[in-house]
Amino acid sequence: MSTTPLSGRILPGTLVNGQPATLGVMGGGQLGRMFVHAAQRMGYFTAVLDPDAASPAGLVSHHHIQTAYLDEQGLAQLMQRCAAITTEFENVPAPALVTLGAHRPVAPGADAVAIAQDRAQEKAHFTRCGVPVAPNAVIETAAQLATVPDALLPGILKTARMGYDGKGQMRVKTRAELAAAWDELKHVPCVLEKMLPLAAECSVIVARGWDGQIVNFPVQRNLHREGILAVTEVFEGNVPAALAAQAIAATKSIAEGLRYVGVLCVEFFILQDGSLVVNEMAPRPHNSGHYSVDACDHSQFDLQVRTLTGLPLVQPRLHSPSTMLNLLGDIWLAFQDAPPWDQVLALPGTHLHLYGKLKASKGRKMGHLNITGPTVDEVRATALAAARILGIEPF
Ligand code: ADP
Ligand code: MG
Repeated sequence: MSTTPLSGRILPGTLVNGQPATLGVMGGGQLGRMFVHAAQRMGYFTAVLDPDAASPAGLVSHHHIQTAYLDEQGLAQLMQRCAAITTEFENVPAPALVTLGAHRPVAPGADAVAIAQDRAQEKAHFTRCGVPVAPNAVIETAAQLATVPDALLPGILKTARMGYDGKGQMRVKTRAELAAAWDELKHVPCVLEKMLPLAAECSVIVARGWDGQIVNFPVQRNLHREGILAVTEVFEGNVPAALAAQAIAATKSIAEGLRYVGVLCVEFFILQDGSLVVNEMAPRPHNSGHYSVDACDHSQFDLQVRTLTGLPLVQPRLHSPSTMLNLLGDIWLAFQDAPPWDQVLALPGTHLHLYGKLKASKGRKMGHLNITGPTVDEVRATALAAARILGIEPF
């Protein structure tokens, strides 16, 4: 099950089969929107397939094909328009990518996306690559539930599929709580993971081309709150150098093991004993890489465009220390839909990104704020000042 190979580079601003070179994206969320921005800036046309009439990416794309992900006509239209197709939404059904891949270069490919969609398969891949995972057990049957080792408790029960932002997971301390949690999750296939003593979390984003060339962003240090990314800090020394090197090497081997093409993010736990454990991967650009738009010479979306089109990859360079604050719907609710952006933008080095979502709700990702500046201390001070204005808890 492999995709149509890219035959020659897709150069921006050219005609492909009589049409302006057009790049397609499955999914119309904020990641797709930022991909579209990057592609358009380089001179490509774009097409987005997403069922939502008001999807963040659909709103800014040349073409918006508004159908379900598996709709045959929608997929046919996308193929007709596009020279190559990527995805921004990891739960795009893998069969849709198989259909597209039969006729067009698709990156990442269906195989890699299918593995990333399933926590059990993903962990098996990490282990094959020699990267340590949290102690865990797959629970698909009542018999497996009954024989889970006590050593996995207290733990976190996570649905094998479709989880994101802490959704589809429950913390359990005892066997009774575990059984109740599995009932609540309706007995879908799950993975029980031992609760680990975290000192910190970090992630690494790599971009890998059709020819196997691979480049990486610096390690991102991430703070999650209630299972949702809250803050990312990127600067030299944000995690000890040896751990950073280990995380980058592990991410590259995970990408190479998948023969991955595109942008891949791998999330890690740094344990209190200083060891590194891989958590999960996302077969797409990642929330923890949004800083790269303002703080790097090439963003994760620029490199997504380059991987898809076969353009040369260059190692991105962090040109400023950076903090990213996620802007969740909670802020809109607290300020009755009018957060004081003018006060935030009066601070030096603040870059506001809003996704064009008109309805806020608790925990919904509405945008993010990137902060850049001359020193780590100044960036941190500005980020804390912005957080104070917006009612974001200090970090
Ligand atoms: P999601 O797909 O929702 O991002 P994750 O598996 O990344 O799910 O879990 C979300 C957050 O929950 C993690 O970033 C981490 O803060 C916490 N978490 C998850 N698994 C563990 C674990 N085994 N031990 C400790 N904390 C965990
Ligand atoms: Mg996660």
